[in-house]
Amino acid sequence: MIQTVLGPISDNQLGRALPHEHVLVGFVPDGRLTRADYDTDEVTRVMLPHLKALKAQGVHALVECTPAFLGRDPELLAGLSRISGLHILTNTGYYQAPYLAPFVYERTARQLADAWVLEAREGIGESGIKPGFIKIALSNGGPLPPIQRTILQAAMMASEETGLAVMAHTIGGEAALEALGIMRAANFDCTRFIWTHADSEADTAVHRRMAQAGCWLSVDSIGWRPLQEHADLVLALLSHGLEGQLLLSHDAGWYHVGEPGGGEVKPFTVLFHQLVPLLLARGLDQAAVDRLTIANPARALAQKG
Ligand SMILES: [Zn+2]
Repeated sequence: MIQTVLGPISDNQLGRALPHEHVLVGFVPDGRLTRADYDTDEVTRVMLPHLKALKAQGVHALVECTPAFLGRDPELLAGLSRISGLHILTNTGYYQAPYLAPFVYERTARQLADAWVLEAREGIGESGIKPGFIKIALSNGGPLPPIQRTILQAAMMASEETGLAVMAHTIGGEAALEALGIMRAANFDCTRFIWTHADSEADTAVHRRMAQAGCWLSVDSIGWRPLQEHADLVLALLSHGLEGQLLLSHDAGWYHVGEPGGGEVKPFTVLFHQLVPLLLARGLDQAAVDRLTIANPARALAQKG
């Protein structure tokens, strides 16, 4: 089962999916962003053509990774899902300093996990809309700050109790390996851990270590760097037999809160318009593309239990 903003679907209904994108983000510190800071009608107007362009490309699902405090808006997403016909997933969990409400620092991992488990069971706020995964952040590079270690502990608890996958913004291999050590010490099932921004690390030995432990590798900044770099990385990871643990996405979008008209929105279409043709030209077959973009997102996001 996979939980979308319009309710649960079966794993094989997800279809071709982009596992890391954004519809709306407002980088406002200390949890001060509110719904009054943007106009949902305008956001819908600006973002709908981008979602329709995806639908026209044969994509069926978009995983919206904007966490609480940064503009997570389940009702906005439900509206866009209805009009566009795309499956959309939202999340529970907390991001990182300075984008955390002050109360987060006062809470134990258990208390944080309780709030996320409640959202998974009862829905987010009054919306009744349930999260499809747990979105957290661990590090922008280097060691995990204490608050992010607490958030990781909370995510492991909430994942074990809800069956939701953990998607963790983690820049660089050092932070990823530290997280791996923490997960192993806790006996956490690493197949429920998605290393978000795994393409921030160049050394594929790190990717292999993470994958051997069961983690998913999310190559999700397609379009932000020269395409050949991403093609090289994807082919290198595939040459190490990691086809069953690789996810591809853009980390694109989004309506930028506070900028006129939402600012410049990056399209969600580079993967299928540009990178896939390049990979096919370099010898990848269509069956592998389908595994990476259909089978893998469904396996990574399937809610256990
Ligand atoms: Zn992102």
